[in-house]
Amino acid sequence: MNRIAVYTGTFDPIHLGHVDIIERGSRVFDKLVVGVGINPDKAPLFTLDERVKLVKEVVKTNKNVEVMPFTGLAVHFVREIKANCMLRGLRTTSDMEYEFTMSLANMTLDSEIETVFLMAKDIYSHLSSSLLKQIAAFGGNLEKFLPSDALNLMQGKLAGVKKGMR
Ligand code: ADP
Repeated sequence: MNRIAVYTGTFDPIHLGHVDIIERGSRVFDKLVVGVGINPDKAPLFTLDERVKLVKEVVKTNKNVEVMPFTGLAVHFVREIKANCMLRGLRTTSDMEYEFTMSLANMTLDSEIETVFLMAKDIYSHLSSSLLKQIAAFGGNLEKFLPSDALNLMQGKLAGVKKGMR
């Protein structure tokens, strides 16, 4: 049986916590599709194209990981690509409420799609894209949080966040 899972998110930008979930997820499933989406509650710093490009750059050596943009409901995207499982990362107890609500909503929308959670690695459990952008705004060093292969591609935009704060 070919087990295909979909890991959706905004990835604005992708960071080491996401990368860890992608690597571990790609060992659990035969194929992992990273779906880069649009969250109507978030105004992204990076465009959809940029976010897709960054994720592609980071996973380029991982043969069973594919990266695709998507719009609309995650469950529709999962169906479209003939997968039946969603992968999510869980950081802290504060993620629980949101993820619990989302997975119940998705289950109601499509009962054949299961959500599987992987606990965030302790060293990344504090990490979020918004925290990264705050650190960037105050000129902090992001090397410990961002994948090195995407760092160069992100520098310009992240420096822009810093300027915008002034
Ligand atoms: P969304 O807007 O869908 O929450 P994110 O890009 O913020 O998109 O997150 C995508 C997924 O990655 C979610 O399942 C989120 O819980 C998970 N995630 C985010 N940060 C981390 C982290 N530091 N460690 C593990 N999983 C994470």
